[in-house]
Amino acid sequence: MLSYLPKPYDDELLYSIVARYFTHVGGARGSIVEQLFGRRGVRAQVDLPSSLGRFAENAAALWGLTAEEIAERYTLLPYYTYYANVMLKKRAMEAIKSDSGMGLHSKLGINTSRVKVPQFLRYCPECVSEDFERWGETYWRRTHQLPGVLVCTDHKGVLANSVVPYRPIALWNFIDASEATRNLNVSLAKMSDRLSASACTIAIRCKDILLWKESRWSSEDRKGQYRKAAMNTGFIGGRFHATPKILNQARLEESFVDFFGQDLLTPIGCDVQVGSDTNWFRQIFRSRNRNCHPVQHALLEIFFEELPESGKLTHPFGHGPWRCPNTYCNQETAESIRSIQVRPGAEGKPVASACCPCGFRFTFRTTAAGIPVVDTIVLYGPTWAKKAKALLESGNTGHAAARILGVCQGTVDDLLEGRIKKGNVKTRREDILSWRQEWRSLLKRAPDRSRDKARSLNPKLYARLRRHDPEWLYAEPRRRARRPSNSFRVDWDSRERSIVELLRSAAQELRESVPLKRVSREGIIKHARLSRLAWDRKDKLPWCTSALQDLAESVEDFRARRLRRAAVIAPERGLPLKSWALLKLTGLREKDLTPRLAKLVEELVSSSVHGNLETQNHGGSLNETQ
Ligand SMILES: [Zn+2]
Ligand SMILES: [Zn+2]
Repeated sequence: MLSYLPKPYDDELLYSIVARYFTHVGGARGSIVEQLFGRRGVRAQVDLPSSLGRFAENAAALWGLTAEEIAERYTLLPYYTYYANVMLKKRAMEAIKSDSGMGLHSKLGINTSRVKVPQFLRYCPECVSEDFERWGETYWRRTHQLPGVLVCTDHKGVLANSVVPYRPIALWNFIDASEATRNLNVSLAKMSDRLSASACTIAIRCKDILLWKESRWSSEDRKGQYRKAAMNTGFIGGRFHATPKILNQARLEESFVDFFGQDLLTPIGCDVQVGSDTNWFRQIFRSRNRNCHPVQHALLEIFFEELPESGKLTHPFGHGPWRCPNTYCNQETAESIRSIQVRPGAEGKPVASACCPCGFRFTFRTTAAGIPVVDTIVLYGPTWAKKAKALLESGNTGHAAARILGVCQGTVDDLLEGRIKKGNVKTRREDILSWRQEWRSLLKRAPDRSRDKARSLNPKLYARLRRHDPEWLYAEPRRRARRPSNSFRVDWDSRERSIVELLRSAAQELRESVPLKRVSREGIIKHARLSRLAWDRKDKLPWCTSALQDLAESVEDFRARRLRRAAVIAPERGLPLKSWALLKLTGLREKDLTPRLAKLVEELVSSSVHGNLETQNHGGSLNETQ
């Protein structure tokens, strides 16, 4: 049982308390460690010590604290577990209480994080001189040792590096801050005002994390919170979003880097490679359980807090819900349309499509007094059918009903017959008649009164008529543009002549190609680039079929051609004109040689003796393949 322990200072590390104990009491370090932690083998650890269970027992009479309380107040455990899930928090606490404490650093991802722990223990010179004045000694503060913290939160000055390694080298290497900082004449790195202000904000946030302060970010679903914050600050992806779902990640990253500056992000190991898919910044938005470093969370939270919330939508239709513009809408709530889809329309202006539970489906481009102004009706829905029926039943003619509903008579018929079909509220009989007039004059101008030609002159008019008056538009027989009407029949003879010509030149080209290619039927057709259509009618093309038979070569023919070619190139390659050389050059084997080919080889070999290879090659060979 211990009879003395130094009283912990505010924000002091357990490491520092033990170090002061050594200074205050003196004596053999090994036995002191054994008194404190119950065994000699306990390693000095700055951030996350072990054996806190035994330490709490031994210190109980003096401090009256549980192991958990000691871990929370005098180690960096709360900093590392603030963002961890419940399981991890529990396991980390077990580890720090246990004797081994093994794997605690890797469990919390401290060893593998890009955010590195400081190399040396750090201190604030101003804090140190105040401590000496006040207490006659100083101590290691927890906040100053947090990765990500560069300045003192009280004095705003840059922290100084001591010469005490953050990861103690020897077993009982507890080094007292008073010793380590005495007579140190440090020259501190200068920071610009901008950097200093940002570093200070980060340090304060890190300290809040260490102290487990509540914040607006304290939620289980942090990923969701960040996404929402990004949406609210206007980082919406895509062109138009009614209900934003996609983040504009690239713009978000750029703004983040702009906000802090790489010159601040780099020293704390949080630099972001804009556009890289593996940067930590993207990861933090993705995985729910990924253990991102606390300082990374801190940066993101500060960033979102400092940005003005724009809540900006990329379309002008508002957040909804919207009122249904259907006059016959049967919904109880006036604002019955909860969501809309927005897409880019003409000239990139957004067009929204909406569907009311009453069955009315439409598109709109503007709203008047918050009510969508219908652009096109996609579906009238049952309320219109009911109205049309009621009108007729009350003695109206179809014509009158159409006038009352503001639709053409065809639409009324459709509604009555249950074809609640597509239509346009603006389409009136007069419109259709004027379009017909326009189309007629267009046809007169089009060559041969061709519908295709007229269509290309005014595609919009064509589209309107096709949609609203297709029966009339297609009533006349279709006239094609180019062809004179009296010679519709294909002139197969002339077509065939040209195809045979194509086949011939294709076969010739194939035959001349190097390296040698077999001039097969399929090869010729392919090489001639005949349209499938032409070829599918080959019953009409008897000449072509026989021409193709003549032009194509068999496998044996092709081998013969290769052997002849080999006989030409053998002397060029410095090979004797022997049968083995021919086989070697062609890659053929003895067994590939049919009697005809064997005879050819014999001839080729003997021809070299007679020196009449040239004649042989040019005379006999080509004819033989046909
Ligand atoms: Zn200070
Ligand atoms: Zn409605």
